[in-house]
Amino acid sequence: MKILKDYNLKDLNTFGVDVKAKFFTEINNEEDLAELFVQEEFKNNQRIFLGGGSNILFTKDFDGMVVLNKLKGIEIAKEDFENVWVRSFGGEFWQDLVTFIVNNGYWGIENLAFIPGTVGATPIQNIGAYGVELKDILENVEAFEVETGKNKIFSREECELGYRDSVFKNKLKGKYFISAITLKLSKIPKPNLSYKILKEYLEKPASSADGNKIKINSPKDISDAVTFIRQNKLPNPKIIGNAGSFFKNVFVSKEQLSNLLKVFPKMPYFEEDKVIKIPAGWLIEQCEWKGYKVGNVGVYEKQALVLVNYGGATGGEIVDLSNKIIKSVKEKFGLELIPEVNIV
Ligand SMILES: Cc1cc2nc3c(=O)[nH]c(=O)nc-3n(C[C@H](O)[C@H](O)[C@H](O)COP(=O)(O)OP(=O)(O)OC[C@H]3O[C@@H](n4cnc5c(N)ncnc54)[C@H](O)[C@@H]3O)c2cc1C
Repeated sequence: MKILKDYNLKDLNTFGVDVKAKFFTEINNEEDLAELFVQEEFKNNQRIFLGGGSNILFTKDFDGMVVLNKLKGIEIAKEDFENVWVRSFGGEFWQDLVTFIVNNGYWGIENLAFIPGTVGATPIQNIGAYGVELKDILENVEAFEVETGKNKIFSREECELGYRDSVFKNKLKGKYFISAITLKLSKIPKPNLSYKILKEYLEKPASSADGNKIKINSPKDISDAVTFIRQNKLPNPKIIGNAGSFFKNVFVSKEQLSNLLKVFPKMPYFEEDKVIKIPAGWLIEQCEWKGYKVGNVGVYEKQALVLVNYGGATGGEIVDLSNKIIKSVKEKFGLELIPEVNIV
């Protein structure tokens, strides 16, 4: 295993922030991993695991070790008449896993198409999109404890998955390296069209003025639709630096909601898993941030939840902008925006 010094991370984070890691290494196989845990540079410094760098914002050079996960491999672990269990190593790109699964005709993952990043990072924030979260298909997570190098399998329950949240973001933060996950998919068609935008898109394709429904024959049809919608809504990090949604949607109580609706009758909200959420993008838009640009940073013109680096921005500039947004939303609505992105 090679340990590099003062390694530039600009191409390894989708914000494209130009920072360095004091030490840097890649994990290509389980032997690398075993070696890693005994390295002095690893043991005696702060460390961070990195996948695709699509949910992280570096605000300064990292004074420790960055470990890039490149563990590859996807396999069908077991199957029965109804289900199939697919195991993937953590360094696989999530989209490659989605493609493998939908091309095989298995259901469950298709709404999560086109989310950047690696498989190993997906349990960290319980990725979610278009009415589905990782928790709906996750069977287990294989991980190594950083302090001891010991391997542990976490059941879905042990991962404590919540809205953009997990045990790995809370009490086990930084304590485990996720090496692989297993997903449970369905062989029986189970299209999930609970998400309004997706349903509308599938029911009224642009090509059919009469609103003829697209016939959904396979999970790939749905993943293609999701990909199409996403490509038109979100900036491509290869062109404009960003990390997707910068903030989480905001939880409110029933009482808070009814008070807010008295003042802001048009405020949208939705109820999911017995909690009420206000779309953070709407709050930001109401504070007139959408399309805002200052220096090298801004708020994406098509989606107020996405902060962007127009080129050359520092992590500090992006955090400053996010703090201003948090303050204005607090002043107007009395609500606290919480970043979804991991700020380092
Ligand atoms: C354009 C765009 C759209 C997006 N859309 C969505 C979306 O729809 N839904 C959604 O949920 N997210 C979305 N995201 C956010 C992001 O893609 C996901 O959170 C993704 O899972 C992050 O993967 P990553 O490999 O890039 O993680 P990284 O950014 O590399 O890491 C994220 C965090 O996980 C930790 N980590 C990474 N790998 C490991 C590991 N193997 N073991 C332990 N810790 C690890 C890191 O230390 C860091 O704290 C989007 C991002 C972008 C840029």
